Amino acid sequence: MQIYNTLTKRKEEFKSIEPSKITMYVCGPTVYDYFHIGNARTFIMTDVIRRYFGYKGYDVTYAMNLTDVDDKIIKKSNEEGITPDDVADKFIDAFFEDIEKLKVKKANIYPKATKHMGDIIKLIKDLEDKGFAYNVDGNVFYNVKKFEGYGKLSGKNVDDLLSGARIEINNEKDNPLDFALWKKAKDGEPSWDSPWGKGRPGWHIECSAMSMKHLGETIDIHAGGNDLVFPHHENEIAQSEACTSKQFVNYWMHFGFLNIKDEKMSKSLGNFFTARDILKQYSAEVIRLFLCQTHYAGPLNFSEEGLKSTENGLKKITLLAEEVLKGLDNSEGVKPEFDFDSLYASFETAMDDDFNSSRGVAVIFDFVKAVNKVIAENENISPEFFEKAKLFLEKTAVGVFGILDFNSISISSGGSLENELVELFIKMRTDAKTEKNWALADKIRDELKEIGIELKDSKTGTTFKKI
Ligand SMILES: [Zn+2]
Repeated sequence: MQIYNTLTKRKEEFKSIEPSKITMYVCGPTVYDYFHIGNARTFIMTDVIRRYFGYKGYDVTYAMNLTDVDDKIIKKSNEEGITPDDVADKFIDAFFEDIEKLKVKKANIYPKATKHMGDIIKLIKDLEDKGFAYNVDGNVFYNVKKFEGYGKLSGKNVDDLLSGARIEINNEKDNPLDFALWKKAKDGEPSWDSPWGKGRPGWHIECSAMSMKHLGETIDIHAGGNDLVFPHHENEIAQSEACTSKQFVNYWMHFGFLNIKDEKMSKSLGNFFTARDILKQYSAEVIRLFLCQTHYAGPLNFSEEGLKSTENGLKKITLLAEEVLKGLDNSEGVKPEFDFDSLYASFETAMDDDFNSSRGVAVIFDFVKAVNKVIAENENISPEFFEKAKLFLEKTAVGVFGILDFNSISISSGGSLENELVELFIKMRTDAKTEKNWALADKIRDELKEIGIELKDSKTGTTFKKI
């Protein structure tokens, strides 16, 4: 299995620290608002990666942090006149509601920054004792020049960063690149006691402290959005490796940017979509399939049209799933030649290649086509065939991608293709009536009756029943 590692900038054969076990940490949300579709991409693709590890037989221990103390939370609390804790609680609840609706399996651990102050302070103290951190009047900074490997993840070097980048001028720091580990308390802000006086932690240190506490000093996989490579993840490496002198993470994975109609999503451009909004119009399965059709690391263009065409594509899978469920009730029939093994193999080859979900999804569509062909060519098919077909969908479409839910498929009133066709005829008849083409309208009604479909007109429209 190959994974692209941001640290080495190439695909590498994946090897976990412990056989069959994986430790994975993903940078989670700062809980000051509903999360947007770009965040949803991180949560859903992480979920797909984790599910695929499960498919391969790995036992994954997965932690996602919740940043519940931060400038943005404090700003929101001032705007809304509620406490920062109330802001965080409200959006933590909303986060869990939304990921559940998106059918994202829960992480094993959701550590919160405010519940790890002891661990965070201990780590900063350790860095100070080892000479990597310095205290200026209650603000503690990390000295990036002390850490030899600084820049190894992002490929930036300290001198280029110093000359080229726009870095805020802060006279308290020895070096403009140094970053805050501990921020001195300001009036009206949440704060905790520490060896440097009252204050609160910087954002970067919380991930180092919580990852090491819950998953160990070296973990298998650390993931997050592309925008976190620098400085967030670069700083996490500097903090953790300076403290332990061990490699912090073996594989760094990053999710690509999400644009809206080729533009960056932003509130000011009016093209900002929360996952919550999109879930009002599209099912979790449609949203997940839409995201899975692009490789996790590539840029993704998000659009209404894209979701609509995904919805149509998904219908092919759900219609086939209906046929499969119906076929389970067959008593006897032919056992068609069908190469399930090679479809499993193609699926695994795709996903083993750095989780190439777009190719993995294409294999499911190939499968749908092939099974439909079998159904079209044979009158009676044995239930065993449909059992195997169901298992394939359960393992791939349901289990790995989460784009199908057998429980929500109803087969009681006949196939939905049949219903859709009748609806189509009803629409044509309504159009004919609008054009005063009574002959055609009557012909459609009579011919449908011939094949056992009776139409009933009312003020609200036309319905049908089977006779
Ligand atoms: Zn993080």
